[in-house]
Amino acid sequence: MITIAAVLKGARQRLADSDTAALDAELLLCHVLGKSRSYLFSWPEQEIDELVEAQFEHLLARRVGGEPVAYLLGRREFYGHEFLVSRDTLIPRPDTELLVDVVLEKLPAEQPLRIADLGTGSGAIAISLGLARPAWQLLAVDYIVAVLDLVERNVGRLHVGNVRPLQSSWYSRLDGVFDAIVSNPPYIRADDVHLKRGDVRFEPRSALVSGADGLDDIRLIIHGAPARLRAGGLLALEHGYDQGAAVRELLQGAGFQSVQTRHDYGGNERVTFGFYGASDAQR
Ligand code: GLN
Repeated sequence: MITIAAVLKGARQRLADSDTAALDAELLLCHVLGKSRSYLFSWPEQEIDELVEAQFEHLLARRVGGEPVAYLLGRREFYGHEFLVSRDTLIPRPDTELLVDVVLEKLPAEQPLRIADLGTGSGAIAISLGLARPAWQLLAVDYIVAVLDLVERNVGRLHVGNVRPLQSSWYSRLDGVFDAIVSNPPYIRADDVHLKRGDVRFEPRSALVSGADGLDDIRLIIHGAPARLRAGGLLALEHGYDQGAAVRELLQGAGFQSVQTRHDYGGNERVTFGFYGASDAQR
C-alpha cells in the first residue's frame, strides 16, 4: 500500500516535463479516487488500494506520453461548468471565456434572441450562453456528427433548455436570421510549429488549422454573416494573437461597424466583434 502523498510525489517527478505537473497528478488521482482535490490535501497519509493505484498508473503513463489531461478525464471546466470532452473536439480554453463575456455584455439579457455558435465542439460557448441567458435561443452548430452527440450529452448533464444542436457546415443548413453569430473557428496556420507541441498534438486538426494564413474559415464566416444577421446583429470571433488587424479589416470590409478587439488573459488580441450595418441607435 502506498499513501496519497507518496503517489503524488512520484507522479510529479515523472511529469517533470509538464508545466502543470503537480496539478496534472492531482487531477488524475482525484479522478481514479472519485474524490475532490481538497480530499487529497486533507488526507495525505491515506493509503490507496492496489486497483486504484494501477488505474492511476495507467493514466499517468498516458499523460507522460503527452496526452492532454482533459482527454484522460473526459472532462474540462469552462465558464464555471463541467463539460464532457472527447478526441473529436477541441479542449475548451480559458481564453475563450472572453468570447462568452463579450456576447453577454453586448446583447440585451431579457429578449428572446436567436444566436448561432458555429463550430461548437463540446458546446462550451453555446451552453455557457444558454445557462447565463435563459431568454435566448442558441443553436450549437457543428458538421461532425460525433461532436453533436457530445453537445447533446452536455446539454442533458447541465440541464440547459435553450440550446439545440444542429449539423451544418458553417451556414449551409441554417434557416432564418440571427441576432448574433459567435464562433471559435480553426485559425492556426497550416505550417505553425505550435501544432507539434503540447496538447494540440492530440486535438482534431479540423478544429485547429485553417489554410496557409489561418484565416480561411474566418473569411468564410465573415463573408456569409450579412445574409444571416439582422441589421445591427453581432458577429463575435475568436482568432489568433496576431490576426486582430486582419479580422478587423475583414469585418469592416463586409459592412460591419463599431468593430473592436479584446485582449485575452495573456494580453494578446483574441476576440474581435462588430455589428452588421447598424447605426449607433440600433445597438
Ligand atoms: N487557441 C488555440 C491554440 O492556440 C487554437 C484554437 C483554435 O484554433 N480555435 O491552441
